[in-house]
Amino acid sequence: MYRTHTCGELNINHAGKNVTLSGWVQKSRGLGGMTFVDLRDRYGITQLVFNMEKDGELCRKARKLGREYVIQITGNVAERSNKNLKLPTGEIEILVDTLHVLNSSEVPPFTIETETDGGDELRMKYRYLDLRRQVIRKNLELRHRMAMEIRNYLSGENFIEVETPVLIKSTPEGARDFVVPSRMNPGQFYALPQSPQTFKQLLMVAGFDKYFQIVKCFRDEDLRADRQPEFTQIDCEMSFVDRDNLLDAFEGLSNHLFRSIMGVEINDKYPRMPYDEALRKFGSDKPDTRFGMEIKDLKEHTEGKGFQVFDSAEYVSGIVATGCADYSRKQLDELTDYVKKPQIGTRGLVYVKYNEAGTFKSSVDKFYSPDDLQKWADAMGAAPGDLMLILAGETESTRKALGELRLEMGRKLNLMDPKAYRPLWVVDFPLLEWDEETNRYYAMHHPFTRPYEEDLELFDSDPGKVRAKAYDLVINGVEIGGGSIRIHNEDLQQKMFDNLGFTREEAAKQFGFLMGAFRYGAPPHGGIAFGFDRWVALFAGLDSIRDTIAFPKNNAGRDVMIDSPSSIAEEQLEELFLEVKKEELKKIETRTSGRKQ
Ligand code: ASP
Repeated sequence: MYRTHTCGELNINHAGKNVTLSGWVQKSRGLGGMTFVDLRDRYGITQLVFNMEKDGELCRKARKLGREYVIQITGNVAERSNKNLKLPTGEIEILVDTLHVLNSSEVPPFTIETETDGGDELRMKYRYLDLRRQVIRKNLELRHRMAMEIRNYLSGENFIEVETPVLIKSTPEGARDFVVPSRMNPGQFYALPQSPQTFKQLLMVAGFDKYFQIVKCFRDEDLRADRQPEFTQIDCEMSFVDRDNLLDAFEGLSNHLFRSIMGVEINDKYPRMPYDEALRKFGSDKPDTRFGMEIKDLKEHTEGKGFQVFDSAEYVSGIVATGCADYSRKQLDELTDYVKKPQIGTRGLVYVKYNEAGTFKSSVDKFYSPDDLQKWADAMGAAPGDLMLILAGETESTRKALGELRLEMGRKLNLMDPKAYRPLWVVDFPLLEWDEETNRYYAMHHPFTRPYEEDLELFDSDPGKVRAKAYDLVINGVEIGGGSIRIHNEDLQQKMFDNLGFTREEAAKQFGFLMGAFRYGAPPHGGIAFGFDRWVALFAGLDSIRDTIAFPKNNAGRDVMIDSPSSIAEEQLEELFLEVKKEELKKIETRTSGRKQ
């Protein structure tokens, strides 16, 4: 028997017991006539003691143990004199009688502790060692518990988990497809699903009524920000529901996760905030509503005083930073630098200090009198002691910039309580989004999203104004999920494809199967998909989804541990009737050299 207990299990109640443990050597240290070894497994760490006086040979053997050796010991549980009450096993230690080395280990390339000295790339290369670190393992344990709760909850609500295929054809989620050549159908390719969207809709046509699946999705995007080429969704679909039925149902799932995993009761119904309002008040379609600091429009109060920047701007708005009137020159300069960063992209920041004494000091004193500034303060709800921060420019981009500035101030002023959760639904997204580059409309969500009936007539006059029955679940500024009520009749679906610039032939070729299915009694239906990795990251308090995934890819989409993607053998290419353009490749390789390693 390799072990009678795990390394996280023994405590003072086991004192006097003879036990056998197996695990990894976390560290070993000699102290006078004693050697102490921390023995680790998935469940915890137990201290082992080898006594030179009792057994010199055994103690010398223990001193030779290197980090990460796998050992098995037998010994007696004893109360420690030097207790560590932070560890569940911290009141006891094992007085070792026998030591058996099960396997040796090379010195690991980084320390396997919470605070590791391994950089990202090194940790990824030796991910199996990284996964031994408790911090990472805890994320995966959390992920597992969440998956179990999701399955139990949804199953209890009559949802059934159905697997959908991975070798399919393109699904329109707005990214590039990963493709897989078919050997049996030379010259033809499968696409990996960007989501199971069309299949889950077909399952509704098939009468499945309530479907879910915890499923891998694949999107070939540049991995800026926090993306992975393969990620996991909690994909769901329901029949015979309108928008509010569906949102209520999934509020139930969300509340269940908060309760069972985080011990947090969310008593209020989630606010349902129209997209327009989210942008207007928060400069973002995923507002962090843990704090106020809403954007206030100032355009009408700034006009006609000779300040060109404001007069010529389409949009002039600001936020109020409570109690910040005493900001120094340096602090204001930092904020100006922040809004001028290329990612934020504004030309400058106007500030108004509303001093405690009731006077004003601003960067536009030349143009605006104290009376003018008082009007701004009134319009913005600022009080003495507050700082007003104002941006001007083109509406869409300036609003977004102000949204970023709002978040920056929220961070600076510690307004984002990590323990507070403020879920909300953002609803009524525009159905279509105009793309300047290609001069055409794209589906903001995807082409199966149902427009509001009352907006249908706008399809011909002002398609950009048509609202969609689409919604996102946003928690603390993170988009956790999104979905929509679907189109379930062929005519409307065809109209949608027309508006998206698909020819009839293209639409039929790509989605004929779905439109065909709509002819056979498709029920009204809708659904949603949650980013599972992201939800785990939110609950784990992580900024990145990477450490919620056992084997993630790096920013270049590579798995550096298994060294993938990689080239394939000539014979494989031949079988697939494929040829690699070697000359072209060389040119790219010299351009991006180093990236592949
Ligand atoms: N398929 C959508 C997505 O992946 C979600 C949905 O509409 O259900 O974003």
